[in-house]
Amino acid sequence: SPFEYAPAPESRSVVDIAPSYGLFIDGEFTEAADGKVFKTVSPATEEVLAEVAQAGTEDVDRAVKAARKAFEKWSALPGSERAKYLFRIARIIQERSRELAVLETLDNGKPIKETRDADLPLVAAHFFYYAGWADKLDHAGFGANPKPLGVAGQVIPWNFPLLMLAWKIAPALATGNTVVLKPAETTPLTALFFADICRQAGLPKGVVNILPGYGETGAALVAHPDVNKVAFTGSTAVGKAIARQVAGTDKKVTLELGGKGANIVFDDAPIDQAVEGIVNGIFFNQGQVCCAGSRLLVQESIHDELLDSLKRRLNTLRLGDPLDKNTDIGAINSSEQLARITSLVDQGEAEGAERWTASCEIPSAGYWFAPTVFSNVSQAHTIARDEIFGPVLSVLTFRTPDEAVAKANNSQYGLSAGIWTEKGSRILSVANKLRAGVVWANTFNKFDPTSPFGGYKESGFGREGGRHGLEAYLDV
Ligand code: NAD
Repeated sequence: SPFEYAPAPESRSVVDIAPSYGLFIDGEFTEAADGKVFKTVSPATEEVLAEVAQAGTEDVDRAVKAARKAFEKWSALPGSERAKYLFRIARIIQERSRELAVLETLDNGKPIKETRDADLPLVAAHFFYYAGWADKLDHAGFGANPKPLGVAGQVIPWNFPLLMLAWKIAPALATGNTVVLKPAETTPLTALFFADICRQAGLPKGVVNILPGYGETGAALVAHPDVNKVAFTGSTAVGKAIARQVAGTDKKVTLELGGKGANIVFDDAPIDQAVEGIVNGIFFNQGQVCCAGSRLLVQESIHDELLDSLKRRLNTLRLGDPLDKNTDIGAINSSEQLARITSLVDQGEAEGAERWTASCEIPSAGYWFAPTVFSNVSQAHTIARDEIFGPVLSVLTFRTPDEAVAKANNSQYGLSAGIWTEKGSRILSVANKLRAGVVWANTFNKFDPTSPFGGYKESGFGREGGRHGLEAYLDV
């Protein structure tokens, strides 16, 4: 791969964590105007990692003003010049990927195996990919001389803190926009590290501004009259609130929201390969993935055999210290998220589904949830409808391809789906009938910066990634 990354970091000593962090506005780290701070903890140990400045309305205004000022020069640069900065950022991310992987794992709780092998290579890949577009926008198929929108206000979640930042910032900068980004309150550290990388890359002041804070900070950013474009990834509830907030303004908006992905396994699928795909689909990042394959639709004739293999495999997964290279299942990101998972799982049991839990030891400190599988699930069950955003799989059955399609599409969401079969013709016919923004065949959770990503139905609108991701930041 051209996006090579560093070998496994052994411990947190790889990265220096300061006791406190400021907001990043106009190229400088600064305190919040009202002096407010909040703490970010390691979900695996509950240890406080750092104190972080919490941006208020005044800080949002300062950051948007800095971004507006920077926009005049940044948007006037030739695309080839903007590309140089993006390539430089991409290379620094590669050089510092050990530090970033450890920091992400500490702040988020996900296994180092994932931050090292998935998050970080993809983050660098996005900057490389969009750097390549910066001087070719005339050839992107949007007509001659497309124009940047202005200041982008971007709000991201905690499940892929740095990758979501890359999805947002790389296309915005490539197209000549400037950015004010609010990371999630439980995972601000890698975004602030990224701010430092922007300085290291010599990025002009004000082009990227980072404002840690809670939902109110995000709401103030969305509401700011001088923000031209809102890009949000997070829950459907907040996405709808943002859609209401920007309605009647001239702001452009893209929303990447929740999901309830169906992973459909036909009786001719190679079982072992399908089992690996199911595990990857719902237990990668503890299932805290918007496009997780959280509903397994299995053809009736192979139900028992598949479930037996799946449970045997799940009993081999190692849950524990996310910094251990052998760990498969890390911590849940926050106590709030753990409470939400627990409550939905309790509801699943109360509604009559059959609960099975993988055998593993739960550490005494931190937020943990063992891999869980529900069988005898019906479409009416809450666990078949609501997004759990945790390591919990709901298993349903089907008899015919049409029934599989009908069940897969029976959801308010439409973000992702998977198909497991040896028949190429079936892959094509089923994929075309699925109402989902991404359909994987004989694989799952595969990402690539060249592919557009986004939802049908209540999973949101607009696309990020690929050529389509440019359009969201341009007037064409
Ligand atoms: P969330 O909506 O609670 O928070 C997301 C971000 O929005 C955070 O930074 C939060 O501080 C901020 N926020 C909260 N209230 C706000 C408001 N009123 N105005 C502006 N910003 C506000 O979601 P979460 O719990 O952090 O993330 C989990 C959700 O994100 C899941 O539903 C998941 O499916 C979704 N998600 C979707 C994608 C995708 O690409 N479609 C990717 C990752 C996560």
